[in-house]
Amino acid sequence: MKAIRIQMNAIFIRMKLAPLVFLILLFACKSSQQWEGQGPIQVVATENKEVSFQEKQVFRTPSGVHFSNDFEGARLNGVEQVNDTLFRLEILPENTPINPSPWYAFKLWSEGPKNLWLEFTYGETGFHRYYPKVSQDGIEFYLVDSLDFISEGERPKTAMLKVKSGTDTLWVAAQDLVGTHDVEAWKDELEKLSFVSTQVIGKSTQGRNLEVLKIGRAEDKEMLMVISQQHPPEVTGYLAMKAFVETIIEDSPEAEKFRSKYNLYLMPQMNPDGVANGHWRHNVGGVDTNRDWVNLNQPEVQALTRFMESKVEETGGQFIFAADFHSTWEDIFYTINEDLKGNRPGLIPKLIKRSSKKIPDYVPNIRPTETNQRSVTSNSYFFFVHGAESMTFEVGDNTPRDLIRQKGESTARTLMKILK
Ligand SMILES: [Zn+2]
Repeated sequence: MKAIRIQMNAIFIRMKLAPLVFLILLFACKSSQQWEGQGPIQVVATENKEVSFQEKQVFRTPSGVHFSNDFEGARLNGVEQVNDTLFRLEILPENTPINPSPWYAFKLWSEGPKNLWLEFTYGETGFHRYYPKVSQDGIEFYLVDSLDFISEGERPKTAMLKVKSGTDTLWVAAQDLVGTHDVEAWKDELEKLSFVSTQVIGKSTQGRNLEVLKIGRAEDKEMLMVISQQHPPEVTGYLAMKAFVETIIEDSPEAEKFRSKYNLYLMPQMNPDGVANGHWRHNVGGVDTNRDWVNLNQPEVQALTRFMESKVEETGGQFIFAADFHSTWEDIFYTINEDLKGNRPGLIPKLIKRSSKKIPDYVPNIRPTETNQRSVTSNSYFFFVHGAESMTFEVGDNTPRDLIRQKGESTARTLMKILK
């Protein structure tokens, strides 16, 4: 009888605790759950849409503080002086609808030293996303002190930044400025290597060269394709791509052997017009190029797909690997449904898992597509048209720069090892 009572009591206690245990479990699951990434990609129209260009200018204010958007990559649409120390900045997208990547970049100076507050506003559709960086020379950017920056909630309509202005120019930007000139300068460095050459594969709408670099001295039997900067503000993805490529070109027996076996083709800047115009996301056709890989309406996508298809036709070779570098809220890999087999089945999951193990305490967030259908992204084009094992390599907006470098390097090193 006593034993039964004890048991009953235990059941009663368990029943009373059950909701609490359930809540604790739910919370634990939720907090350890990884971000699930974007939903299924819809096929969207990719014919040209209207874009509104910024009027390049110096915004002069009565109190002698001046702002400028007159440089490549700038984005600042309006300035309103609210009082002696508060300035409201208007930052607008190139067109709508648009994914929320509210890029900003501008410079400011004043006739004497001043402490100012800048209020960022993003029109009807935007919200503050990028933690501000400042620079004294437009080249080296630093994160602002957290005490000088106020932004509340996940998608705040406005944010406030405290800065000290003076006669010297201060640059403020959403990320480090990686303009077309920076990419040119990097490309010039790479071209000094005997095994690197550049080919112009087309022109953008505004007449900029669309270029592919060939890295390697192999026959074009098994080729690799790497692209980045489809989306202008995605600088952290670009930095990961750079670290990846700089490992492939290094002077080591492994890298040399790799380059004698495979050619890597690289398009470092898919959307130079969007970058130059400080766009949030689109090219000057007003289109997200990463939704155009089925329709092929935009010159950037047309040029690269033509290049890859004629390469295969001319050489009889095949693309075995492809990566498209992007940035988003946090590090994530979008991969192809693992049931589908391309030219090197299993290469991508093996690559991500092995290369991630080399980074202390890092667990990769891998999101294979749920369907086995082709979609409108580059990743899908590389796999479904070429059989290339492919991935979209997404780097977080705020991933520390040294971790970005580690990830890019480790991915390249592991790839060279797997493909040796
Ligand atoms: Zn992107």
